[in-house]
Amino acid sequence: MEKERHYYEHIVGVQTEEEGAQSEDRLQGLFESKLSDIDEFELEKTQEDLEIIKITESIVDRIVLEYGGKPKSLPIDNVYLLTPNKLLEYSKGKFAGGLHNPLSSKIIVERNQSTVVFASTLAHEMFHLKGYKSARIGKSGSDIHLYRSGITMVNRKDIEAEVGEEKEYFTVLEEAIVSECVRQFLDILAEENAINEELIAFNQIRDYISKYYESIGVDEMRIKVFEQELKYIENSPQILEEIISYSEIEEERQGYASGMYDNLIKQDKEKVITLERYLERQKMYDLLDNIVSKSNGKFEYGEVFDKLAHSHFSGNYLPFARIVEEVLGKGEFRKLAKEFSYLLEQEDNTEETKDK
Ligand SMILES: [Zn+2]
Repeated sequence: MEKERHYYEHIVGVQTEEEGAQSEDRLQGLFESKLSDIDEFELEKTQEDLEIIKITESIVDRIVLEYGGKPKSLPIDNVYLLTPNKLLEYSKGKFAGGLHNPLSSKIIVERNQSTVVFASTLAHEMFHLKGYKSARIGKSGSDIHLYRSGITMVNRKDIEAEVGEEKEYFTVLEEAIVSECVRQFLDILAEENAINEELIAFNQIRDYISKYYESIGVDEMRIKVFEQELKYIENSPQILEEIISYSEIEEERQGYASGMYDNLIKQDKEKVITLERYLERQKMYDLLDNIVSKSNGKFEYGEVFDKLAHSHFSGNYLPFARIVEEVLGKGEFRKLAKEFSYLLEQEDNTEETKDK
């Protein structure tokens, strides 16, 4: 089998051939390295896990390709599965759910009992990892730093900063793009895995609740948002069974489903999961809406998002930057970089991602 190569398409600051070869080796070494401190938390992958990882990667790759990226396969050994709730302990309280390390191309994901939650977290990290990557040589000439990871740009002037301590631009926008791609991923997963009991039950319950909302006159837009944001309900197959046995009348089932849903939310936030990175996505939706409305019909929402996603996966952000400058004014792209560089710390632990 041909040896798989690291993901870096460009190394900034290389001046001699020797430096070039050294940094290549460095990156390849990191790519092939093994995490040494994870043994006590790591789970051995079952046949089912391997199957889910394979399906997940194949759907992710199709989406990456669609947005101009060049998806490279991820060696199975670069994916680490952890016992549920162990990532917090492993990362000393910093991360939960999943994380990725861009320089060494590693993904660490908790093996949630739900196939959908597991696949979705895995897809999230893959969308980060399979974004465009470039590195730069550090001050000493032998150390290697992250320069660009997807649309995220590391401040080059920060040459004194330790790896991982540099200021990063566009991180918020990257989270938003990645999460939006996870939504597309989940749609495809549901469509193509119509035999998955968990997905079928979940879709059916969501449908019951939507119909109930409709029947009591909830605004159409709000129902749509509810459907788009809801990602997972714990024990969907059992819950569906309960709903069905409650009554033979559809309307009564709908009302019952909605009541159960409300109860689940009250009980425990882990029982119902919505699409991640809500605040980041809202910030992105606002930006895209603003561009569309100020363009006076020249650009459509889908087209602008498409260009934005291309910036993340292909690395070429000029088409998006051009739209921004044309519609919002000169210098606005630069301003966005800052504006989208951070959010206030969130207490949302469901999905943290970047390992520094
Ligand atoms: Zn993320």
